[in-house]
Amino acid sequence: MNINVDSLNNGFSRQVEFETCITLPESDSYDEQVLVSCNGTITNSHGKYTFDGQVAAKVVFYCSSCLEKFEEELSFPMIEVFSKETLEDDEMWAFSGKNNISLEEPIKTNILLNLPMKAICSKNCKGLCHICGHNLNLSDCGCERDYIDPRFEKFLHLFNNKEV
Ligand SMILES: [Zn+2]
Ligand SMILES: [Zn+2]
Repeated sequence: MNINVDSLNNGFSRQVEFETCITLPESDSYDEQVLVSCNGTITNSHGKYTFDGQVAAKVVFYCSSCLEKFEEELSFPMIEVFSKETLEDDEMWAFSGKNNISLEEPIKTNILLNLPMKAICSKNCKGLCHICGHNLNLSDCGCERDYIDPRFEKFLHLFNNKEV
């Protein structure tokens, strides 16, 4: 995914478009292998190379409620600046190799920033039965899930009478 910008003169832009597979840090909530497509332009402004474009990442999540896999495409704009010189500010990315910039690390960072706090397969996800562990999206298991522990029952009226 290295992009050679050696021939990109000051003030000029070039179009970049590619698809690649990126490996995210390990997690229980998504699959680390993510298919990414990226397109945009790279512009050279006095040795600062700005990528400005759009990233789409197909992430396979594990629903935090029912644990099933589902795929969701995250799509977001990305603007990142690369500098050949020694970096005086950490808003910029270093070159990888003499004349190459690599979008891999910036894309990774941006995907992580755009991940949902909690992955849920659908807003109607019924989750798992907390008694038998059955996936309630598939069918009902017949467990009595609305059973209330009698030790807590006497407190219920406290919540019912008081609007929170
Ligand atoms: Zn779910
Ligand atoms: Zn059950």
